[in-house]
Amino acid sequence: MTGKEETYIEEAFRTNWIAPNGPNVDAFEKEAARLLGVQAALAVQSGTAAIHLALELLGVGKEDTVFCSSLTFVASANPILYQGATPVFIDSEPDTWNMSPIALERALKEADQQYKLPKAIIVVHLYGQPARVREIKRLADQYGVPLVEDAAESLGSLYHYKPSGTHGAFGIYSFNGNKIITTSGGGMIVSDDEKAIEKARFYATQAKDPAPYYQHSLKGYNYRMSNILAGVGRAQLEVLELRVAARRKVFEKYEQELSQVEGFDMMPELTGTRSNRWLTALTIDDSKTGVSAQNLINILEKENIEARRVWKPLHLQPLFKDAQYYPHFEDQDVSTELFNQGICLPSGSGLTTEEQHRVLNTIRRALPSLVMNKRVL
Ligand SMILES: *Cc1c(COP(=O)(O)O)cnc(C)c1O
Repeated sequence: MTGKEETYIEEAFRTNWIAPNGPNVDAFEKEAARLLGVQAALAVQSGTAAIHLALELLGVGKEDTVFCSSLTFVASANPILYQGATPVFIDSEPDTWNMSPIALERALKEADQQYKLPKAIIVVHLYGQPARVREIKRLADQYGVPLVEDAAESLGSLYHYKPSGTHGAFGIYSFNGNKIITTSGGGMIVSDDEKAIEKARFYATQAKDPAPYYQHSLKGYNYRMSNILAGVGRAQLEVLELRVAARRKVFEKYEQELSQVEGFDMMPELTGTRSNRWLTALTIDDSKTGVSAQNLINILEKENIEARRVWKPLHLQPLFKDAQYYPHFEDQDVSTELFNQGICLPSGSGLTTEEQHRVLNTIRRALPSLVMNKRVL
């Protein structure tokens, strides 16, 4: 928190706006839309709810398929199931760790031949790194499939100077506690289509018809953000650039030290993009380092340092065991490789230099000791 949140929360208390909706929500939506350069924004209770609304607006239903990045958090794809639709997962490509345009093209071509084009494509900008938006958008446009950007992790990231989440039909953000800015829990859906966002507002407010009594013709949701939490969001939005700078600095420090190590490869940043570096991620080739990502996580944990594996790809999840999957190349499954080798290091905006040194020292110590252990074995 920055401290300024209290001012906005206090205002909500003083005016007794303890409800979903209210002046903070209106202001938060306007301020976010201005910052992102979009026509309209709707604040909701989670990023997941925002994705769900996007799929609802695009008319995704039971007979439909939706293409989705495989290397992501399960929340990207759960709303596909909420709609009773079928996910098809698309692999990553090495330069962004995000949706492979090569795999996507293959998937679209096959779907087209079977007269079964997806109702939407959900492209994720993993750990803040924008996907190859231009190539993906070109394919989406070519086949007439709307693009939903899951920018839950990439608020503040840029693709050719334009914010991630503003390139497709809809963009969604998350303000969950772990994200680059937070409202403790919350999300947002944005678009240049104001009418669509108005419709999202309608769905998110129990789909109440404009009648003088409670009348409902459509299935709705209770997804609106509370006026108190929107107050937190307003203050957080003001420091977004500072947060991005802090996270990038954390990444750079890790990069300086770890890119020296043979077998350590930092998550790339595609030319023409700025990642918010939400998390510092890298891959470890244990044939060169003698220590795997999981080994290192265990070693760090003994020092009370929390590191994590890269998301387990959705096509490997028991939940989606029957789902179709398109790898980058027929004989190269990039997301599985990234899952096997990837690690996310402590990356908080508030991470101090001392703390980061402690992480780095622990990693340094882990390398020779494990190599030594191996020799003993
Ligand atoms: C966090 C996250 C979400 C979901 O956001 P919530 O606000 O937690 O519902 C969706 N997609 C990705 C990639 C995320 O990291």
